[in-house]
Amino acid sequence: MPELPEVEIVRRGLEPMMLGQQFVGVEQRRPDLRFPFPAGFATRLEGQTITAVRRRAKYLIVDLSGGEALVMHLGMSGRFTIQPGVSQSPQEFGGYVYDTGAYPQHDHVVFGLSNQSRITYNDPRRFGFMLLVPQAELPTHPLFASMGIEPLGPDLTALYLAKRAQGKRVALKSFLLDQRIIAGLGNIYVCEALHHAGLSPRRLASTLGLRNGGPADRTARLIAVIPDVLHQALNAGGSSLRDYRHTDGTSGDFQRAFAVYGREGEPCKRSSCNGTVARIVQAQRSTFYCASCQR
Ligand SMILES: [Zn+2]
Repeated sequence: MPELPEVEIVRRGLEPMMLGQQFVGVEQRRPDLRFPFPAGFATRLEGQTITAVRRRAKYLIVDLSGGEALVMHLGMSGRFTIQPGVSQSPQEFGGYVYDTGAYPQHDHVVFGLSNQSRITYNDPRRFGFMLLVPQAELPTHPLFASMGIEPLGPDLTALYLAKRAQGKRVALKSFLLDQRIIAGLGNIYVCEALHHAGLSPRRLASTLGLRNGGPADRTARLIAVIPDVLHQALNAGGSSLRDYRHTDGTSGDFQRAFAVYGREGEPCKRSSCNGTVARIVQAQRSTFYCASCQR
């Protein structure tokens, strides 16, 4: 499943192609993906100019000049392929994927743009979906209303985490996976961040805060490494999006760089540690960590 870094990589690939362009032809090839397409989907897009290509958690949001937003989720297996227009050379788009799809029967939507490019949405398992929502209603929309802060934005502060963790007698791992606290941070990146911060996934979330409500030192450590882990994945995936669609959502390059994720029984990578990576299950999810250096 694509995680936040993979969705951000897709956004960065789509943005230069789509921004400022008009939808000139939209082919919707089936009535539904995970949910039915909105009524009049193609007609509502055609003629609209794209004013922004944004991301919120794992959702792509394409703002339209008429006031609606195209909200897209890639589900388990969704991906886009780009066929640049005749006047454009592939180099302009920084190594993004250009092919017409090995399984054209899974090409469900084709967006034609005024720059003569065609962007095809392919999704074999069809867990992805597309919605049209008025931009003004996005903050109160059920998908977004209770969503936590962006882990790559300025809202991720030690004080924010300390406040949200106050009195929370749940495992730190589960707290960090709670999408109402931080949106879009998945299992892999929580495991990795906890290792980099030297914090046990089993410690109580409430230990992020002090008695006076301020953040503990460990909280500052944690918020420093979360963006690092995501950026590391972004940088690895950015050079190799092709890998992403053949794997479980992480690029091959980044997978090799994991400190703990998927490394059960292997030696801890921290230079000063002789520990072994263990796997436990927390809230039905695998947690990988080193009990020697994560306290
Ligand atoms: Zn260790």
